[in-house]
Amino acid sequence: MVTRIIDGKAVALGLRDEVRRRALALRERGVVPGLTVILAGDDAASATYVRNKERAALECGIAGRTVRLPSDVDALTVLRAVEEANADPGVHGILVQLPLPAGLSRAECQEIERAIAPHKDVDGFLPVSQGLLLLGQPSFLPCTPAGCMRLLRSAGIEVAGRRAVVLGRSAIVGKPLSHLLLAADATVTIAHSKTPDLADVVRQADIVVAAVGRPGLVRGAWLKPGVCVLDVGINRLPDGRLTGDVAFDEALGIAGAITPVPGGVGPMTIACLLDNVCLAAERAAEGH
Ligand code: NDP
Repeated sequence: MVTRIIDGKAVALGLRDEVRRRALALRERGVVPGLTVILAGDDAASATYVRNKERAALECGIAGRTVRLPSDVDALTVLRAVEEANADPGVHGILVQLPLPAGLSRAECQEIERAIAPHKDVDGFLPVSQGLLLLGQPSFLPCTPAGCMRLLRSAGIEVAGRRAVVLGRSAIVGKPLSHLLLAADATVTIAHSKTPDLADVVRQADIVVAAVGRPGLVRGAWLKPGVCVLDVGINRLPDGRLTGDVAFDEALGIAGAITPVPGGVGPMTIACLLDNVCLAAERAAEGH
């Protein structure tokens, strides 16, 4: 079997083009879509993610602003930054880059993350956003799960009536994606670190999503011939290369389609964030 490689970069570029057109239409109506990112601390990976988001926003005609706070910042100062962005009509989307500095307690981090106004929650992480997703009335879809669903659509993968196995149950990827697959009429199994016989569970899937963070966990021999594999994992190997949660070379020739790492799900996450910012600005322009 020839395995089709799903080109996430190309699909993401298409979505970014669409966002650019919508942002331009908004600007013509006097509304400049705005995204504020709150970055506290000096985590190198977070700084890179935020720079990428700033650059991507700019390219799409979205005004990106990053509020940079020191690593010894207190909770009140971060909360004030969120409140200011909440009150600013020029800011349509807000995100707090995680992880927050280690000096902040778990309760403080939760309070900060939950202070974002729901109509500006472009990450879709607020309890109210997740609750609406569960009820099938989403406001903003969390970006990585939304990106996965878009990839399935663009690759023409039938979801309704198929068996989907999602590896990983985090609040930002595994759980919300499971609900989106369920809403698209898949029969969904969620597997995690306590799931016995993972290989047997995966073997039943027509669609496998790996969102675990363990390089090469999913072996080629676990896959049903023709399965569609979405590899969300991003793992850095000792030699510096990035790799996914699926043994990619083993999957070739068995899977019907697969996303590579890098260049698969990753580029979709930022594109879906920009899509959400544009959506928030469109809603604001309509007075919602
Ligand atoms: P978390 O660490 O929050 O969750 C990992 C999940 O994997 C948990 O549910 C855990 O189970 C499960 N797990 C861990 N080990 C195993 C195992 N051996 N077998 C089965 N399940 C296991 O990670 P995230 O959801 O935040 O991220 C997952 C991966 O996706 C990471 O590599 C991350 O870098 C990547 N990622 C990529 C994004 C992108 O844009 N492409 C965006 C976000 C994340 P349990 O709950 O039992 O502990």
